[in-house]
Amino acid sequence: MHELSVVQSMLDIVSEKAKEISAPRIVRINLVVGEISSIVDDCVQFYFDFMAKDTVAEEAELHFERIPLKLKCRKCSHIFFPQTGQWNCPGCGSEGVEVVGGSEFYIDSIEVE
Ligand SMILES: [Zn+2]
Repeated sequence: MHELSVVQSMLDIVSEKAKEISAPRIVRINLVVGEISSIVDDCVQFYFDFMAKDTVAEEAELHFERIPLKLKCRKCSHIFFPQTGQWNCPGCGSEGVEVVGGSEFYIDSIEVE
């Protein structure tokens, strides 16, 4: 995912939302970012700073909430948070795991004036 298009769609969504509730100004956008999502906070902030100009979100503060990587064992269904580089199931030692959390990116909420 590229931050440029991510920020663009984010602005579309929050502008639409603000219009919906007749809010003149968005003061804060709460974002949820998974640990292994390809989103880089600084890049999002960078694009946001110039793309939000002259929009309802111009002065909004971005808040990033990080979600840790969460894995699920395909063999025994154990759900765990892996240590760096260790994706083996701590329950049965299997390497057959799937990502069940940590790759998401979405707008959790916005705060308006
Ligand atoms: Zn297991």
